[in-house]
Formats: sequence, C-alpha cells, structure tokens
Amino acid sequence: MTRENPFPRIYFGGDYNPDQWSEEVWEEDMRLFELAHVNMVTLPVFSWAKIQPSEDEFRFEWLDRILDLLASRGISACLATPTAAQPAWMSRNYPDILPVDEEGRKRTHGKRVNYCPNSPSYRKFSRGIALRMAERYRAHPALAIWHISNEYGTYCFCDNCAAAFRKWLKKRYATVGELNRRWNLDFWGHLIADWEEITVPSELNDDNKWYQPKMLDYLRFLTDSTIDCFNNEKEAILSVSSDIPVTTNMSGFIKKMNQQLFNEHMDYAAWDNYPAPGAEPSLVALKHDIVRGLKGGRSYIMMEQSPNQQNWQPFNTLKRPGEVRLLSYQALAHGADTVLFFQMRQSVGGVEKFHGALIEHHGAENTRVFRECAALGGELERLGDVFTGGTTEAKAALLVDWENWWALELSTGPNRDTDYMAILHKYYKAFYGRNILVDVIRPESDLSSYSLVAVPNLYMVKPGVSDNLKAYTKQGGCLVTGCFSGIVDENDLVTTKGFPGEMRDLLGIWVEEFDALPPDRENGIAINDPIGKLTGTYSCAHLFDLLHLESAEALGTYTDDFYKGRPSLTVNRYGKGSAYYVATDPEQALLDDLIGELCRQNGVEAPETVPAGVEVTVRKKGGASCFFFMNHGEETVRLPLKGRKLLVGKILPEKDGLRIVLPHGGVAIAVEERAL
Ligand SMILES: [Zn+2]
Repeated sequence: MTRENPFPRIYFGGDYNPDQWSEEVWEEDMRLFELAHVNMVTLPVFSWAKIQPSEDEFRFEWLDRILDLLASRGISACLATPTAAQPAWMSRNYPDILPVDEEGRKRTHGKRVNYCPNSPSYRKFSRGIALRMAERYRAHPALAIWHISNEYGTYCFCDNCAAAFRKWLKKRYATVGELNRRWNLDFWGHLIADWEEITVPSELNDDNKWYQPKMLDYLRFLTDSTIDCFNNEKEAILSVSSDIPVTTNMSGFIKKMNQQLFNEHMDYAAWDNYPAPGAEPSLVALKHDIVRGLKGGRSYIMMEQSPNQQNWQPFNTLKRPGEVRLLSYQALAHGADTVLFFQMRQSVGGVEKFHGALIEHHGAENTRVFRECAALGGELERLGDVFTGGTTEAKAALLVDWENWWALELSTGPNRDTDYMAILHKYYKAFYGRNILVDVIRPESDLSSYSLVAVPNLYMVKPGVSDNLKAYTKQGGCLVTGCFSGIVDENDLVTTKGFPGEMRDLLGIWVEEFDALPPDRENGIAINDPIGKLTGTYSCAHLFDLLHLESAEALGTYTDDFYKGRPSLTVNRYGKGSAYYVATDPEQALLDDLIGELCRQNGVEAPETVPAGVEVTVRKKGGASCFFFMNHGEETVRLPLKGRKLLVGKILPEKDGLRIVLPHGGVAIAVEERAL
C-alpha cells in the first residue's frame, strides 16, 4: 500500500496479538492465515510494555521476527504504534500521564486509553516510540499502513488540561471580555476578570451539563488535544517514512470526539463496525456513509468487526451463518476497501476472552466461524482490485454536523429525549428504503452536484452555513430541513432574529414557539392537497414548531391541540429552488412519502429497482460499475442479470434470461462494463 496505489487488493485479516502467544503458536497461525486467505494483520496495538519494558530498554526483536514471518508469507502489516496503553512503569514514574475523570478522581494505572492527552510525559514517550518504530520498520516489506494508537477517546479534567484549556481559549477569544460575551457569562453572574478563573466543566461544578457554551468549547478543546496527540506521532513517523499512509481507527461513533475534524488529519478514514445484535441494516449503512463522507468519498478502512459475537453487549448473540459475510459486503458496498476483524486469535484472559475470533480457543480450523471467514477470504481474494478505490456517485446528500450533535443533546430543553443520531437515521431511512445513494457530508460542503439535500434539525448554525444552503437552493436545489433548526450560533447563544434565524428568509417562516410532549403523547399532520403518495394524515411526536408563514406555503397542518390548523409542513420557493420545512418529528411514513416524492420530482433514482429488503449500491471504477446486491429480507428473491458479469453470487436461467438468485442474507456482485 502506498499513497499512489492505496488498495491493490481488498485487505482481509485483522488485529493480531502474537505477543500473547509463544513463537510455536505463530507458525500455526501462519498456516491458518494461509487457509483463511488472510493478507493483512494489525499489530502490535497494545504491546508498548513488551517493546519498552523500562524507560531505556527497547525489545523489538520479537516484533522483527513476527514481521519477517508475515512478510515471508505475503501478509501485509497494518503497523500500529502501541500508544493506546502505556506501560505500568510509565504511569508510576510519570503520574501526569494518568487522567482525572469527570468526577474529579485521579485514575490509577490500568485498562487502556487511560491517559491524559495533554500530559507532557505522554506526548514525549508516545512520540519517541513512534519515531523508533518508523526508523526501524520504514522499509520493512510487510509494512502497508501506519496505524497510530487505537480508538482515541480519552477525556481528562486534570490541572494540565485546565491550563491547556485556558491557553486554547485565549487563542480563540483573545480577551476576557470577548469570552464573557461569547459565553454569555452575565448569566448567573459567571463573569470572569482573569483567565486563571476559568475552571474545566465537570461533575464538580455541573458546568458539563448546565453551561453549554463552556462545555461545547471543552469538547472542541479535547478533540483538538487528541488530534495533537495523533499529529505528534504522525509527524515523527512522516519524518522518516513519508510514502506510507497514516490512519487511526475510531471506535464506532464516539460522540465526544469530532470525527469530521479529526479525519482532516488522516490519509484514510478508518472505523470499527460493531452493530448491536439485531441492528437495522439501514443504521449500519448510515454509519458507513458517515465514514465515507469524512474524507470526501474516498475509500475507507473497516479496521475492526467481530467474526462472531461481541463480549460487551448485555446479550452477546452469535452471528448467524452468513451474517459476517453480509456485513462485510455491506461495508465494501458503501466504500470500504478492507474487511478486517478484531481478532485473529482469541485471548485466554481479560475482558475480550469471549469476543469472537478467527481462531477460537481450541486453535483449530474445524469451526463454523473459521470456515465462514475462510470462504469469505477466498471470495475477496478472487475479486482482486475490481472495485477498490471506486467511488459512489450520489445525487442526494444528508448534512450532518458533529458539533450540532453535541449542542442539540447538551441543550437543557425543550425535550430531553432528543436523539440526533435517531433523527438522522429517520431521514436516512427514507432514502435507504428506496436504495437512493446518499453522501453524508457537512453543512458547509459544496452542494452543487446534488439534486436533493436533507438537513435534519440543524439547531446550531455556524458562520457561512446558511449562505451555503441559500446558494444551493437559489440555484435550483431542493432542500429539506427538519424542526428545531436555526436556533443557536456556534456558542449555543440563541438568535434574536426570530427562529429559524439566518434561515428565516430561505424557509419563508417564523417559528414563534416550540412545544415538547412526553413520549406517550402525539399530534398529527394533515396534508392539505395530496402530492404523489403524500396524502391523508400522519402522526408526529416529540417536538412541534408553532410557525407563521411569511413567504412559504403550508403543505400540511397540525390536527390537534390549541395549534390545530397551524402549518406543520411547508415549502418556500427560493430562487430557482425549493426549501421544505418539516416542523415536527413525523412518523417514518411521512418522510418516506415526502422524500420519495421529492426524489421523483428531482430525478433522483435508485441504481436499480429491487424488491423490499434488498439493498443495492454501486461503486464506479474506471469504465466499470460494480453493483452490490444484499438481501436483508427473509424471502429468496430473483433479480435480472441485465447482461452484467456476475463476480459473486448465484445465477439461474429463467424464461426471460439469467437471474441472480438471492436467498435470505445473500450477496451478489455484478459488474457492468461501460463503453469508454
Ligand atoms: Zn489531563
């Protein structure tokens, strides 16, 4: 893997901990890896104590031997710096490394990702080990990717962090007066006269939940601090090894770490995909699309998934036969170029001892999991590089802002049940259910290539965002906005321009009040005149904007309560385009029908019409379109092959030609060559 040729094949394998085993076991691992078609392993993620047993002692020889062994078998290394778990001697001799938690308790050594991101000692030692590894392995034939640390997400409230926070604030606001203004510190008499009076928001003062401007900046600061940790190691690596891509894996979606910002510093986005048992395929798809959007649509790395059950769920359901294969292809279908697992060989002790592994405790290949993984590895090997590096051409976009997520859920009121990811998922599902390809991007992104853009609940409107949305709509775009939008600025200060603030003329409405109801109460949206399938009455819940029409027209009105008859769904013609406003949290069917109708009006189509329960995506590479079909439904379906070449799956002849046969959980990949 080089920057020029990032994915010469689909990388298959995953996290490998040879340091937990004797070297005789390594030989057996190599035999099993070959049987399973493993071509990449990630190591040595947590081996800092083994590599650096004391401050001045380094033991790389074991790592040399395993890397040589991998290279001799043609297996690439996703080479990780081991800095997610510092050695015990380091915590003992340099206590500034140990973090202070949100409740003010100094933590003791243990676990992992248990360090202060602003500790000078941590920065010094992590840079040191990264540099030594880069110097030693920069030309090693196994080296394919640099993987820095693991699953960043440490939060610290120590004195070092407090001092660094004050410095960060000085840079952002320059004067104490400006800080007082931007945080609205006149409230409750919080005014400060000196930077040293600033404390960190925590459970000790409740500012972590009661003073949103401060907490928002602390989350920004912790994200920046963590990025600094990443860059500290990355710079050391690049100083001697500049031709190998550098990444790190995010653990699912850690809300507190702004991944949209973090990924600006990485060559490839990478994430760990651990859906809860029974998770909706649309939710997994949304998360893949979020990751693809982090680097502007570039291929990404699925760094971890479990080959079988996890160990931290309340009930760790086995992955059913075919489930790992389906989840793996779903990742590839959405833009991943790797299928990597945690873990290769199952540990005998510790919290992950029952986490799924390619090689389970008894260490042989005669297991269901091994057989399924090995068969998958063989399929991926045969696919070669047919779609690696391929892109997704979406005509629809979903706009997501990480800091809006923070702000929306930090807000005390109007409804404590507000769940941004659930709202995003609802809007996304309206596209997904129709197999409309969606790019998930930021509100400030270039929108000119999209025919339909949805931006649910944009509570926080940052500078430039409303201008971007206006420019898009004015030039003929179709925008759909959700309720409780245009409320605050980037510091969570409420607009005094009348909601939805800067977007008031774009949406042609003024929201005077917003009502919130408990989960057992709801209202309705009556559609004034049928528009396509959008007809009759839909239920709505949770939040209800009470608005006045300015230049917009009402497509739907509330059915109950004192605001019965007032608009609940509006459209405003703006320039050559249209801006829709869904003034409440509607039932899924309303979004399905509205988005469906807007897709039809704007020529946004699925790559192929397929039966319900079948997911279809397309990745384009060179002159070829690679179609992925995945059957999440219960029934076997048959799809026309349409002259495409089948790469994965089964076909059967029928009266009207060849058909792809997709049983429950089945996958097919078919490539269509386009004349160049
Ligand atoms: Zn700290």
